[in-house]
Amino acid sequence: MNTVREVFGSMVFGDEVMRERLPRETYLALRRTIREGRSLGRENQALADVVASAMKDWAVEKGATHYTHWFQPMTGITAEKHESFLAPTGEGAAILEFSGKELIRGEPDASSFPSGGLRATFEARGYTAWDPTSYAFIKDDTLCIPTAFCSYGGEALDKKTPLLRSMEALSRQAVRVLRLFGDQTTQRVSTSVGVEQEYFLVDERLYDRRPDLKYTGRTLFGAKAPKGQELDDHYFGALKARVKGFMEELNTELWKLGVYAKTEHNEVAPSQHELAPIYTTANIAADHNQLTMETMKKVARRHGFVCLLHEKPYAGVNGSGKHNNWSLRTDGGQNLLDPGDTPRENAQFLLFLCAVIKGVDDYQDLLRASVATAGNDHRLGASEAPPSILSIFLGDELTAVLQAIERGERYDGGGRGELKVGVHVLPRIPLDNTDRNRTSPFAFTGNKFEFRMPGSALSISGPNTILNAIVTESLAQFADELEGAEDFDQALAELLARTVKEHRRILFSGNGYSDDWVEEAQRRGLANLPSAADAIPCFLREKNISLLAKHKIYSEVELRSRVDILLENYAKVLSIEAQTMLEMARRDILPAVSRYTGQLCAAVSAKRAVSPALSCRCEEKIIDRLAALSGCFAEAVDTLEEALLETKNCADLEACARHCREKVFPAMQKLRAVTDEMETLTAADCWPYPSYGQLLFSE
Ligand code: ADP
Ligand code: MG
Repeated sequence: MNTVREVFGSMVFGDEVMRERLPRETYLALRRTIREGRSLGRENQALADVVASAMKDWAVEKGATHYTHWFQPMTGITAEKHESFLAPTGEGAAILEFSGKELIRGEPDASSFPSGGLRATFEARGYTAWDPTSYAFIKDDTLCIPTAFCSYGGEALDKKTPLLRSMEALSRQAVRVLRLFGDQTTQRVSTSVGVEQEYFLVDERLYDRRPDLKYTGRTLFGAKAPKGQELDDHYFGALKARVKGFMEELNTELWKLGVYAKTEHNEVAPSQHELAPIYTTANIAADHNQLTMETMKKVARRHGFVCLLHEKPYAGVNGSGKHNNWSLRTDGGQNLLDPGDTPRENAQFLLFLCAVIKGVDDYQDLLRASVATAGNDHRLGASEAPPSILSIFLGDELTAVLQAIERGERYDGGGRGELKVGVHVLPRIPLDNTDRNRTSPFAFTGNKFEFRMPGSALSISGPNTILNAIVTESLAQFADELEGAEDFDQALAELLARTVKEHRRILFSGNGYSDDWVEEAQRRGLANLPSAADAIPCFLREKNISLLAKHKIYSEVELRSRVDILLENYAKVLSIEAQTMLEMARRDILPAVSRYTGQLCAAVSAKRAVSPALSCRCEEKIIDRLAALSGCFAEAVDTLEEALLETKNCADLEACARHCREKVFPAMQKLRAVTDEMETLTAADCWPYPSYGQLLFSE
């Protein structure tokens, strides 16, 4: 086994390699660009040429033969178009070439990526531009250059560009606020993100026999495994070793790419696991998470597994999410969500905390929309994952502090010191960060917020873009107000009290999975958007369009293009699922049930032939039940087919998404319920697919 130290970052053109291989001047100039979060433009052509040449030499030494501009299109995991380093010289020979021009700019054929109409409105082609803040790396003998993808008109065609813009916007407003507290040194504030990634492993041979898993990533049928299913210890022991092998190789592969990951067994659901990397800057974390998902899928195959990243591969078993840990960090290394040691630091912490609270409350719909996908609909609000209603959990101590601030009272932190509203006398805030509420969709965990709504397959770029945007707006409003204040401390105290008062409704410490909470949330006026079809159109509410346009994160046109893509994708996913169900129902399930019923009928006849006195009650009961269920089954198939056909008559994408949610999805549920009951009555060797018991307990 390789040690972390040996392999970590060995396939990354990172800081150490750059320092070693670039002329000092070039290295320093590039560092400056990276630190300032700028991209390399054409004006830096000379610099880019030197970097490109060093990068190529390094990559070729490592065995790379191709390079690619690696980016995150608006759908799918990542995209790449490989170009060879080889350039013909005209004399029948070839030399290895890679120039600065090729490093900083590429021109993939944009027409093969969904753009939600953006391309039609603007240019037919787009270009990719290197994001030097995210290091280049080698994957599958290809030098991958992390890039942003834009149209010639400058419209973002990817997920990274809006994320970078949101980080820029947030930094600008956060620095304004820091200046108010006398911080004259901080130049940039960046978003730190660490994502915990959940996933399932399933044996590849079983997977191959499930058309639903192959076409849709989740099981569309499947009766629950009997509770307390016991495993063959020996078999399970051997397979556990296979999972261990997978995890070791996954760790090594990710370390090579500079992702400091640690895989773990997760006991929540059988065959479900979790991977958590060490947090880093948001855009790098997003790149790393995309790489992580891709690597998981690849490495799983080498160990005879398929890695399922779907949010809900199995009904009745916990789904998979992605916990997005988020905080703000100054270029000096200070975490702005860490309560400090001095009253002044604490006051600053409270202001940033209130900015998050206000942002989440003002833009609940937008945050919910940022995690809206067909897959995540099975998770949110399903009594096991975060509810689809946004609320914030702060812990008892911090909640009490905010209550005291709101009432303008002294706060007695359980004898640990007093907190008075006048900011100059705020004491150190005692924090109990062990008190965590696992049912909260948005929890403060000591020095960061943990957003638990994102689904396991989602790119984290979207939710982080929105998170940054909403906090940017709060900070901008706070700075506007405080910059003009005559008495800063007084104005700050008032602002904090008012913010807590106005946004108290978003704070909730109770059980987020309970039905009581749904009612309580409604009383509080909180948004409840149960499905993606409800949530996605919220992007286009007036207040949301203007927020994102104001901070130059998405133009209205860009936003509309994304909404189109999301709605279309939602409808497509449901249609594919419905079609897969119909095919499985007609071609495999009905024949299997008929065959088994026939076998039972033959058994009854045979018994009767021996002696009419023999009891056939058991067979007859099952025949009777299966016959009745077959009738319901035929009806459910017809209903689903009709619902699916009606999607063709929908007026627009939103109507289509809604139709899928309101008509197609319930019809799928109905068909599944009937089929799952038939499965429990049919002999195992007649059933055409591996059972839940096999899928879940066979690693
Ligand atoms: P948990 O108990 O939820 O597993 P951990 O402390 O293990 O919490 O952290 C989970 C994730 O949060 C990890 O990816 C970790 O790197 C990340 N994390 C820790 N501190 C911060 C921070 N200040 N900002 C962003 N992410 C962080
Ligand atoms: Mg966590």
